Amino acid sequence: MISKKALQEKDHRYLWHPFTQMQEWFAEEPLIIERGEGNYLIDIDGNRYLDGVSSLWCNVHGHGRREIDEAIIAQLHRLAHSTLLGLSHPAAILLAERLVKVAPSGLTKVFYSDNGATAVEIALKMAYQYWQQKGSERFREKTTFLYFTGAYHGDTLGAVSVGGIDLFHSLYKPLLFEAIPLPAPYSVVEKEAALKEVQRTLETRHREVAALIMEPLIQGAGGMLPYPSGFTREVWELCRANGVLFIADEVAAGFGRTGRMFACDYEGVSPDLLAVAKGLTAGYLPLAATLATPEIFDAFLGPVEQKKTFFHGHTYTGNPLGCAAALANLEIFEKDRVLERLQPKIRFLKAGLEQLRSLRHVGEIRQVGLMVGIEVFEEVAARRPFAAAKRVGHQVTKEARRHGVIIRPLGDVIVVMPPLSVTEEEIDALLRVVHLAIKKVTEGDVAA
Ligand SMILES: *Cc1c(COP(=O)(O)O)cnc(C)c1O
Repeated sequence: MISKKALQEKDHRYLWHPFTQMQEWFAEEPLIIERGEGNYLIDIDGNRYLDGVSSLWCNVHGHGRREIDEAIIAQLHRLAHSTLLGLSHPAAILLAERLVKVAPSGLTKVFYSDNGATAVEIALKMAYQYWQQKGSERFREKTTFLYFTGAYHGDTLGAVSVGGIDLFHSLYKPLLFEAIPLPAPYSVVEKEAALKEVQRTLETRHREVAALIMEPLIQGAGGMLPYPSGFTREVWELCRANGVLFIADEVAAGFGRTGRMFACDYEGVSPDLLAVAKGLTAGYLPLAATLATPEIFDAFLGPVEQKKTFFHGHTYTGNPLGCAAALANLEIFEKDRVLERLQPKIRFLKAGLEQLRSLRHVGEIRQVGLMVGIEVFEEVAARRPFAAAKRVGHQVTKEARRHGVIIRPLGDVIVVMPPLSVTEEEIDALLRVVHLAIKKVTEGDVAA
């Protein structure tokens, strides 16, 4: 067996980690996770950590869940991979049927890919091409998109073009296509003004807009920022009234994370296109899907020579192992009545979060289902942030780690997003550590 020290050295020598300042990474000892067991991750020394962010928001029923492991193994014994270009396979077919059943109403076709960003790219290209092929000359001008400030839709260039997080996105501006930003409201007070702006933009620019894309109900990577109640639905209705497609990006929110199967379900939103990924395979394998309405699908039909084909695909589109994992995932949702049993956990989490309000530097606590953001400030009343160089969010996660909890922040927003399989005891332990870590870092010596 290779030693931890050797692995750490090789990590530093060979790996380039995502969303990571590697200079900072080099200054710290990499934590090497070797195993997963239920809601816990286990490092190479055998230390156990509660998986407080579901391995980057994707784990659903815990690690090493028997039914999912077995479904993958059974599929592996039959076929690891074949293609959906010109061929089909049972897992992709059966999963598509199942997805259509659980998805918001109106979505009847499933196009696979392998991560959230590609699912979004596909939705954007489908929306654009749909209008190109709708027949009417005036629809050809529909070549741009609406998105919200603070939005995150993935890191490929199309997804970045509709991204609204300056830190991640502004540098790439010269490489991006034009899209139109809309102000995202984060309070009831801002809601009406934001809706007016959406309406004004749709009414004046619908001729050039193919689709509006948004994360329904809550922006994730933007900082766990819930939209005011009813906002998503009203935006969807405004899109419909103005002949603009509505793309729901449920890559983070989908598969129970908000307490319902999809965030769209809360407000009865039926998107024209839906992007899903993270939780689709319960966090086991990279698989994504873009769901479409028959209206959109039909616009791509015609004799080959008309060139209405959707010329898009990835080598591993609809990988059988991923599809088998996703099928097992959805079976567990049904068999274990996961969503029903989630409700008391969400309430328990909500009550537990209240305890954090007593901390001097905790400003806002935002929660939708199991998606939580705890924002810390140097001075709460003035919403004055800590100096960025203090790396407060990062320090809090490092402190939490010392107490057996893995979390990862978004700036100074401490994110808590446990798997749906989390127990009340584990929520209790998780919040206790988060409390302690925030207190120690924000009220003690931050530079430590
Ligand atoms: C994570 C995320 C994506 C990107 O998914 P990847 O699989 O990381 O490419 C897109 N949209 C939202 C809302 C996400 O949270």
